[in-house]
Amino acid sequence: MDISAALTALEQLASSTSTSSSGPLNALLDEHFSLARQRLLSGDEDPRVVITDLQKSVVKAKKDVEKGLKAWYAGLGNVGKAVEKDALDRIVMDSLGRRGLWEAVSAMQDETGLTYDGEKRVFSEELHRIIQAIEAGDVSSALEWCSANAAYLQSPPHPSPLPYHLHRSVFLRIASPTDALSYARVHLMPYLPSQPVLQLITSCLYRPGSSPYMHDTSPLVVMFRAEYCRRHGLAKDEPLEVVVDLGSRGGALNVIEKARRVMGDRLGNVRSWQELPMEVPLPPSRRYHSVFVCPVSKEQATDANPPKMLTCGHVIAQESFTRLLKGGRRSAKCPYCPMETSQQAAQRLYF
Ligand SMILES: [Zn+2]
Repeated sequence: MDISAALTALEQLASSTSTSSSGPLNALLDEHFSLARQRLLSGDEDPRVVITDLQKSVVKAKKDVEKGLKAWYAGLGNVGKAVEKDALDRIVMDSLGRRGLWEAVSAMQDETGLTYDGEKRVFSEELHRIIQAIEAGDVSSALEWCSANAAYLQSPPHPSPLPYHLHRSVFLRIASPTDALSYARVHLMPYLPSQPVLQLITSCLYRPGSSPYMHDTSPLVVMFRAEYCRRHGLAKDEPLEVVVDLGSRGGALNVIEKARRVMGDRLGNVRSWQELPMEVPLPPSRRYHSVFVCPVSKEQATDANPPKMLTCGHVIAQESFTRLLKGGRRSAKCPYCPMETSQQAAQRLYF
């Protein structure tokens, strides 16, 4: 059942008289009670008969309400299942697109009726093309992308080291030292303040074939993918890969299964969980903190009050740090350990 069919079924329930809400349960019961009361007050009937009738009608009202609720729960369950299937289909399709398997994407579009977002496809294709070129040893298209996005790569939380590493890989491939030096003069010198440019340039002094830099290839593909995805608001990692990774290698499924074996029915239905009722240890690369809350002030960080990392590695909000520096102090003691951090040493963090 797809989502629209599941929603139509819910709408039908809402419009049907047997299952739509006929007012609060109390009102329904009040009606029966007042009727019974009238009959009793009239004095014509045997009170025992009236009470037995009342009991019967209350039981019937309860059954009717339960029947209606059952239909609603079934309808809502179907919507939930349809949403899950839809989301799963989208994630699988996204994963196929990211791998450049466009034939599989179009087959899936035909089968599911979903559409792969056009803009996303343009980005996926470009990313795929540039990465293939990098893997084949040609970084020219990656460099072109960098110069087209130079302003972005320079802005906070950058400057990104990507353009430097791309130029560096070109430099290391140039066989003639003279040519390499002239390339460095033009393309590497601008990175002198932030990168070990001089060290790199002097690598020309090694006899051909003996440079220790020869086999030192930076993870250009990983770097490029990260910058590209950040630039275009795409998830850095494939959602499908993340889910499978956490479920299998990350051990989430094992932990859940074990807890279910031990706890049995007390854990309730998995579908009703709002969060995992047990701890699942995750590798550091899979810990996501898009929001930072200062452990001192308990306030959420903002651009005006950003998170700051102290020398010891503890992180607090800027305002909390400023408060610790009160009285013209040059450095402040970390609220969590004995280490002191000078005013300049605290580093802004980006989440
Ligand atoms: Zn500390």
